Amino acid sequence: MTNEVRTGTMTTFLSGGTGTPKLLSGADAVFDLDDLTVIGNTGDDVELGGLFVSPDIDTVLFERGGVLDTETWWGIEGDSHETHDRLHSIAEAADLETGPRYLPEDRQITGREIAEWRRFSGVAEFMTIGDRDRAVHLTRTGLLDEGYSLTAVTRTLARAFDVDLTLVPMSDDPVATLIHTESGEMHFQEWWVARRGEPRVEAVEFRGASDAEATSQVLGALADPVVIGPSNPVTSIGPMLALPGVERALSATPVVAVSPFVGDRVFSGPAGDLMAATGHDPSTRGVAEAYPFADGFVLDEDDETELERPVVRTDTRMESPADAARVASVVDRLLSEVA
Ligand code: GDP
Repeated sequence: MTNEVRTGTMTTFLSGGTGTPKLLSGADAVFDLDDLTVIGNTGDDVELGGLFVSPDIDTVLFERGGVLDTETWWGIEGDSHETHDRLHSIAEAADLETGPRYLPEDRQITGREIAEWRRFSGVAEFMTIGDRDRAVHLTRTGLLDEGYSLTAVTRTLARAFDVDLTLVPMSDDPVATLIHTESGEMHFQEWWVARRGEPRVEAVEFRGASDAEATSQVLGALADPVVIGPSNPVTSIGPMLALPGVERALSATPVVAVSPFVGDRVFSGPAGDLMAATGHDPSTRGVAEAYPFADGFVLDEDDETELERPVVRTDTRMESPADAARVASVVDRLLSEVA
């Protein structure tokens, strides 16, 4: 397959931590990376043992930087875990309770403003942070504490990883995705990482979103044609849509979305349960309803969903950059059609 790389047309991708980064792994075959902006979800971000961790931004950093562990789609390939393992052996030796340890309620909204409502103790660290990965979080946190914005810090980290597209967080303000379940309210990372998505979901809240602002870089990028990759519509794209002004901006620009479903089947992750819990059909049809501003959809060739907006079908399973390049070229074609 030959693709002509499109130059001179700015395009913006909205990204979570798996589906869209997969699509981006083949984007350079179709788009000039200098023309791409990726807006990363920050609703999954946490402060863990004082370290500010931004998992979706990091997946894009590591993927584009050529160091991502593509078995898991998080962390750095071949990373060691000496500090993480030692945190667990200390906790065990001292008989400390493991599992997510939230800082007390009054410590959730004081101190480092960017960390509001998502602060965990580092005792028996509940997320697996590799040693090289930790150096990224230490640098990010250090720069935030020096007074730089998350946008500026992300730009610095992108330089360190030789990332050739523009990567921006959706906001410099704190937004925390909280999952209300039958077992109580918990941060998305507790629900997904520590509890493996098991407690039944009753509602999803983007705490802080109505007071948070999309940055000027984000609003500027949303004036360009937009691609919503096959990310989780609820927890990866939902926090962006909850920011004031974002849906309006999307309604005013061409938008193409790639479905993370084939009919009612997801490729991976909890999108189905989360869609059902937030009043959407857990399917491509539900994704289309969640994105009323989308002008066209890329669906899998086995997806029989009929939509009233333009649809192009291809094999949307992406297991290699070549697969991703095929999907990206279909996205590009549909984007020119709907523009
Ligand atoms: P998260 O932040 O890790 O939850 O990742 P995202 O929200 O970016 O992506 C999760 C979504 O990616 C899931 O709903 C999957 O169905 C979807 N996904 C994973 N692999 C593929 C793939 O190869 N093709 C497509 N179309 N979707 C995929």
